[in-house]
Amino acid sequence: SVRVRYAPSPTGHLHIGGVRTALFNYLFAKHHDGAFILRIEDTDLERNVVGAEDEMLDGFRWLGFEWAEGPDTGGQYGPYRCTERLPIYQEHLARLAKVGAVYPCYCTPEELQADKELAAQDGRVARYSGRCRHLTTEQRRALEQEGRKPSWRFAIPPGETILFEDLVRGEVSFETDELSDFVVMKSNDIPTYQFQVVVDDALMKITHVIRGEEHLSNTPWQILVYRALGYEEPRFAHLPQVLNSDRKKLSKRDPNVQPVHVYREKGYLPEAIVNFLALLGWSPGGEEELLSLDDLVQRFDLDRVSRSGAVFDTQKLQWMASTYIKKLPVEVLTDLVRVQLERFGWELPPHGTGEWLVNVVGLYQEKMACAEDFVGLAKTFFESEMQLDEEALQVLADPVARQVVKRYLELAESDTEWTPEASRLRFKQIQSELGVKGRQLFMPVRAAVSGTVHGPDLQLTITCLSKPWVLERAKKALS
Ligand code: GLU
Repeated sequence: SVRVRYAPSPTGHLHIGGVRTALFNYLFAKHHDGAFILRIEDTDLERNVVGAEDEMLDGFRWLGFEWAEGPDTGGQYGPYRCTERLPIYQEHLARLAKVGAVYPCYCTPEELQADKELAAQDGRVARYSGRCRHLTTEQRRALEQEGRKPSWRFAIPPGETILFEDLVRGEVSFETDELSDFVVMKSNDIPTYQFQVVVDDALMKITHVIRGEEHLSNTPWQILVYRALGYEEPRFAHLPQVLNSDRKKLSKRDPNVQPVHVYREKGYLPEAIVNFLALLGWSPGGEEELLSLDDLVQRFDLDRVSRSGAVFDTQKLQWMASTYIKKLPVEVLTDLVRVQLERFGWELPPHGTGEWLVNVVGLYQEKMACAEDFVGLAKTFFESEMQLDEEALQVLADPVARQVVKRYLELAESDTEWTPEASRLRFKQIQSELGVKGRQLFMPVRAAVSGTVHGPDLQLTITCLSKPWVLERAKKALS
């Protein structure tokens, strides 16, 4: 049965490209009733970041992924953190040494650097010189007596073609003559990724390695390790790159693309993020693009993954996010908005009791892609000291406009009802008294009580602003 894994290195935030890879693995596993596994590849000790693993697992939980085995849940092929598997790699290194697939390399970093510079001078691709490949036992002993501790390199067999059928890219081939003898075990007894990944995937019985295209060129090396160890190779599928709008490889520094925790903090819906990412390099085949995680599981397979790069379209993300926000019951959205109010330190006004916040959220639901958007949109409902903006001032410079506001203020002051309907009647009365209508009738009041000429339904706005605030603001606007 299908077993796949996502194997992040805990070197920073959970990035959107990584989530896309994890999601494709997840969907593939679920679609085939298989297992999705998380493994933490933490052998690059200097780059590990404290807390990164927890953040990643949290991010996946938020997105709704479940993993059958992982660093927190364990499983029968554990441990699932590579640094806890060091003896396993040593054992496998010994196996490679026994069959002569690896050799100790005593070259110092300085010697290797000098080789590289020489290659650069001659315009050659820098490849390991092979200096240590054919050392005699005596030479090795002598070098060890100098106090050198070896790393271990894989002895690439010359003159072979490595061929495999990538499930996305089709047939791929590499010539071993192009490959350098690569390090499998560093002199500090930490395995390199090329070696560790094979040992772990083989022992964890991974059937399909689904990962980013940047790993395609690692595959021939890894296939050689599988063969040398006598392990069966998994199937490989390399996903197309995620590109930014200039069709360049998506950078972690692109301001339009945030790590997952940022989307979460801003109150995006995880369903929207998942739906959006699923379409980055995969298409469901029909017109319908709005798909829940369950729908995606049902439809996903690797045959509809494209080979060409997938553009991260920020506008599409906003569109999709707002589509999911619109479908949410307003009470649920209100709970998400409360979190944002707290985040920004906003307090409810004195009249903000009971259903008040639900009503105000309802006014802006159509305009939001994430709960944080509320904070940008609904400011006027929260500031006891409101400022009129340029456009509002301009509208209120007109004497007729001031007359409308003045009359509205009088009618509102004496009204005992405070409902949208009551407000509508006030406008009706002003219309017949002053003979103004449309924009001329409504805009002055909107400007005076909300400080801007833009906004949601006016009667609802007035109602939610409360009588005391409307009267106070209208008076101030006329003063
Ligand atoms: N730790 C590797 C990465 O984060 C995993 C690569 C793989 O899937 O083989 O890129």
